[in-house]
Amino acid sequence: MTFAALGLSEELVRAVTERGYTEPTPVQAQAIPAVLSGGDLLAGAQTGTGKTAGFTLPILQRLTASAKPTAAKAPIRALVLIPTRELAAQVEESVRAYGKYLKITSMTMIGGVNINPQIQRLKTRVDILVATPGRLLDHVQQRTVDLSHVEILVLDEADRMLDMGFIRDIRKVLALLPKQRQNLLFSATFSDEIKALADGLLNKPALIEVARSGTTAELITQKMYPVDRERKRELLTHLIKEHNWHQVLVFTRTKHGANRLAEQLGKDGIPALAIHGNKSQAARTRALAEFKSGKLQVLVATDIAARGIDISELPHVVNFELPNVAEDYVHRIGRTGRAGSEGEASSLVCVDEHKLLRDIERLIKREVPVVQIPGFEPDPRIKAEPILNGMNRGQGGGRGQGQGRGQGQGRGQSAPRAGGGQGRAQPAPRTGGGQARSGAAGQGKPADRGAVPALHRSGGRGR
Ligand code: AMP
Repeated sequence: MTFAALGLSEELVRAVTERGYTEPTPVQAQAIPAVLSGGDLLAGAQTGTGKTAGFTLPILQRLTASAKPTAAKAPIRALVLIPTRELAAQVEESVRAYGKYLKITSMTMIGGVNINPQIQRLKTRVDILVATPGRLLDHVQQRTVDLSHVEILVLDEADRMLDMGFIRDIRKVLALLPKQRQNLLFSATFSDEIKALADGLLNKPALIEVARSGTTAELITQKMYPVDRERKRELLTHLIKEHNWHQVLVFTRTKHGANRLAEQLGKDGIPALAIHGNKSQAARTRALAEFKSGKLQVLVATDIAARGIDISELPHVVNFELPNVAEDYVHRIGRTGRAGSEGEASSLVCVDEHKLLRDIERLIKREVPVVQIPGFEPDPRIKAEPILNGMNRGQGGGRGQGQGRGQGQGRGQSAPRAGGGQGRAQPAPRTGGGQARSGAAGQGKPADRGAVPALHRSGGRGR
């Protein structure tokens, strides 16, 4: 299958070829003809599947077919609504890259930056507007944007937009658009709220579902490193130095934690910066640019800040702390192993996080292989609860006496995997030092590369 065979123009095919794409990803193979046909689209696809080009390329083609390229001022004809600033910037960058041989103009409209340059820019021609909902509504209020000629609407990462509380903003924007238009909705998951939004928005949409398991995520090697909470930073430094990891995206749960970790890594001689919602847009953009260019070895990020970060061939993602919501794990590790390149996702897991790990493993329908780095074994006195099914691979027992910590969270039906004890199957670790223990308790199968299943149509997100 080639891009040309999908009906794309020579200019677009040339641009994607220059970008290094040789063939369409599955979502592109399905979305491009659907969008070119002019109908609505409902797509279950996550970041990392190539969905951006899946809607950007056919939109560029459709707008070109009916463009008046000479007009100095022309109304906005396509609107992409997207949850985060970084993602908006990246999508617009894709629009420019794919449209480099066309006379289509585009603009990013995001919060956190001065609104005045945006107002000036809107006085010139903008064919495709890529916007976060909040700032778009600021412009609406100031009457500096005209949405009355929008022909194509894209809701990208719709589930994230709803998670972030944008539903009312989205509905306000929808009310300003012409009734007659093409609507494209992309979402990784389909909660009842998303279904309701799609029902009200889409007219006989083409349906696309792309399972990540068949695409990029098979290229992600997942590992979990048991370690005590207090020694996580030390272990991270060890892993980075030992394995010479040169470009590492590290997730923490809190902004404060991100700052502190970046600082500590710096003291360990590892150049690191943090990005999160409290940083200015300029600081985030700068950190991201340095990280992308390879100047910055480690970027420490919170979930929201990292959403949509698109770095081709990002080799390492580290969960310094597991996310509270299992699906965020999938989003996080989806930063690596994208569109054909291999990646490694490592999680530093302390005893308190075993329940979270279990939730994640239930979601991804497999166990994450365990790698114990010698010298970083968790203190057995603060180990998890004994397991219930008699397949205890650890020493069992509750948490250490006198540790001042609460009741442990055992792994329920699964064996506790941190700590010593009599290990079961111990396949050789895939890479790096340490002993790997199969996480496939009692099943005798060495857990290996963890492909991430499609998460869409999975019902509510539970939050
Ligand atoms: P997306 O899911 O749109 O965020 O894209 C994920 C990554 O895949 C980005 O780094 C794209 O540049 C890359 N990509 C998109 N389409 C292709 C393709 N057909 N071949 C190779 N890489 C692609």
